[in-house]
Amino acid sequence: MDLQAIANDIVSRMESESDRGKVANYIPELAHVDLNKFGIAIAPIEGEVVTAGDADIPFSIQSISKLFALTLALKRVGATLWQRVGREPSGTAFNSIIQLENERGIPRNPFINPGAIVVSDVLLEGRQPDEALEDVLGLCRRLSNDETVYVDDKVAASETLTGDRNRALANFMKAEGNLREPVDRVLEVYFQQCAIAMSCRQLATAGRYLCAAGQPAGGEDSTVTPERARRLNSLMMTCGLYDASGEFAFRIGIPAKSGVGGGVLGIIPGVASVAAWCPGLDRNGNSRLAIEAFEELVRATGWSVFGPL
Ligand code: GLU
Repeated sequence: MDLQAIANDIVSRMESESDRGKVANYIPELAHVDLNKFGIAIAPIEGEVVTAGDADIPFSIQSISKLFALTLALKRVGATLWQRVGREPSGTAFNSIIQLENERGIPRNPFINPGAIVVSDVLLEGRQPDEALEDVLGLCRRLSNDETVYVDDKVAASETLTGDRNRALANFMKAEGNLREPVDRVLEVYFQQCAIAMSCRQLATAGRYLCAAGQPAGGEDSTVTPERARRLNSLMMTCGLYDASGEFAFRIGIPAKSGVGGGVLGIIPGVASVAAWCPGLDRNGNSRLAIEAFEELVRATGWSVFGPL
């Protein structure tokens, strides 16, 4: 299979798309990103990473960071995490407050904002915010084999200034007894982790541990057990694209996680890790063109876990 030709073909199709969605503007710093950017990187389980388009430009990974943070939280507290966070798709927006109230401060899953805020609390417990952040950043660097992965301070500051909704979610969970550390410190970890910047190449390389049963690319130690990698993939499949997760499974059929910076990381277990990025979002907060790119990719490769499209 000529992955380079497939990636090039996807990029040229995306260049001619006029409806590119809208950049997220509720985090003001994200509103400056150029809507015309598009990149894709395919990291087969073994062998060279294939890239096309703007695959080496770092972008704000936002919610995709929730995957790396969850990986670390599971390492820290194991399955006890599930007493504080559910594993069901939300069916409501990623920052919905109403659902949290209905479920007495236990978020539906670790990929919506309140779930990820609980995960930040787990990573913070007993240490300083910068140590918890270093843990997440360090994992991103190690998995992508690239020490240049960084936190975009402007994006973190922008979200800190405007993150009142996340503050509301965190305060509500604190009141219900589901956060242990002070809200401000938990959110410091959360906002900074969301502001990690990575390119498609770095992200696709980092995602390899999930298609390779927990083994990071070229590494000897495992990042997670094969069983945990399988479970992370199942959570991505059911909850990874906000309340459009069902639609993504229906149209494309691979575990994936999106972020409001316009990135999508998709995992084809045993085969490849793929990242696509275009900053314009659809009404669910997912990148319009990155999703189209995955549809094209799966059509061309037959890589859906449910069988060829
Ligand atoms: N930092 C963003 C927020 O909390 C993440 C949203 C996302 O990518 O889903 O709103």
